[in-house]
Amino acid sequence: MNQVPRTMQHFPIFLAVAGRRIVLSGGGETALAKLRLLIKTEARLSVFAPAPSADIERLAVAGRLRLVRRSAGPGDALCAALFYAANDDPAEDARVARLARADGALVNIVDNLADSAFITPAIVDRDPVVVAIGTEGAAPVLARAIKTDLEARLSPRLGLLARVGKAFRHAAEALPTGRARRAFWAEYYFKAGPQAVEKHGEAGADIALSLLLDHHLEAAPDGGRVDLVGAGPGDPELLTLKARLALDQADVVIHDRLVPPAILDLARREAILIDAGKEGFGTATAQNDINAMIVDHARKGLHVVRLKSGDPTVFGRLDEEIDACDAAGIAWRIIPGITAASAAVAQIGQSLTRRGRNAQVRLLTGHDMAGFAEHDWKALARPGEVAAIYMGKRSARFIQGRLLMHGADPATPVTVIENASRTDCRVLATTLAALEPMLGQAGLTGPALTLIGLAPRAARAAMLAQPQLTALVPTQELSL
Ligand code: SAH
Repeated sequence: MNQVPRTMQHFPIFLAVAGRRIVLSGGGETALAKLRLLIKTEARLSVFAPAPSADIERLAVAGRLRLVRRSAGPGDALCAALFYAANDDPAEDARVARLARADGALVNIVDNLADSAFITPAIVDRDPVVVAIGTEGAAPVLARAIKTDLEARLSPRLGLLARVGKAFRHAAEALPTGRARRAFWAEYYFKAGPQAVEKHGEAGADIALSLLLDHHLEAAPDGGRVDLVGAGPGDPELLTLKARLALDQADVVIHDRLVPPAILDLARREAILIDAGKEGFGTATAQNDINAMIVDHARKGLHVVRLKSGDPTVFGRLDEEIDACDAAGIAWRIIPGITAASAAVAQIGQSLTRRGRNAQVRLLTGHDMAGFAEHDWKALARPGEVAAIYMGKRSARFIQGRLLMHGADPATPVTVIENASRTDCRVLATTLAALEPMLGQAGLTGPALTLIGLAPRAARAAMLAQPQLTALVPTQELSL
């Protein structure tokens, strides 16, 4: 048989009503039935009834609701989240509903689905666990039957267990996420918790949780985990708070060559530091060794921080490390960092993008596994293009040649920023035509980022004022 796709006419939600007004019009049995539900909430209840029943009077005396001894009128539902028309009188219900709608309240007319903006489900209450059952008015009998069934099946102590459990969630985070943690909670809710409450009441649930957690922590040693962390461009103050926290908690820190000692100093004192430094043109074997190292330590149950310069997702061979973790079933997460391109433009007072100049930026690598990397040179050669070239020192002559060959303006500004964000930062401001041999002659030894299409802001202004400088003195070494 074909399944006809169905759509819900009513969308179930749990409305925040603490401190908000709920207004009810009516003083008889129908009103009382709704009020019995509503007094379980933290809403402020107002009841409008010229002749309220004794039960409603009692609720008012007990301070559970505010009773106004007259029919609801215009403005009575102002600021109300919900309005119930429960007068057992269709004409009166229609009248007050109209007024309440005008006041901006969501209106329910009891037993009148068509004119109601919302309906109240059948409820199984084990606060904070609440089951709401709705049949869109189709089968109230069915809703009641399901309610009765659930009432019988769900322990009356479920609410208590959930409240105690909620306060314990933080402690339970000591267990690794996933299977181990789920097993702990399942045992608490369906076995240890109910048993303990049976014997010792509420205090029993607390003790049961502590004992159970100890038991689970011993039984399931932490499977280890890997944080793939961006260390930023070198200035320790450019670490994220998350990265600091990870360093603070790490058992093992496996770091790149480019991560400076000042950042490594922030690692937990007992942490094992491993230098996985790779020079440019690193081989695949070296990467495999790093992957194996990460996995081996995590498998011992250790918290591994894989610390990479800049942002780990930029030219960081991150995916290979993630694949290795996945293959070994080890949990991992990425903690981003400030990439060299961001630090480099900050160093020369420029933006990576600028209205009217470039609406896109390219992050390029000077070389890939096969040697100098090929790119869309034609696109890069267009005026106004901005590109940040990582690992671009050795390939500078190649890039210069390719760009000029594809028609780039020889006067295109090119800035090479060495050690961006660090105290020993040096900036070489030049043009595409002069990039080599100037870069070679500058003898930069630190990590350097090449920005095509950007000059340092101050120098740029000077060049514009004296255009001949661009031609005559195409390079200048600035210490910013
Ligand atoms: N994941 C890193 C990049 C790794 S590739 C990031 O997001 O920054 C290594 C290259 O990054 C270096 O060859 C150099 O081009 C660049 N680089 C890293 N740190 C730098 C720094 N402080 N100043 C300039 N360039 C840097």
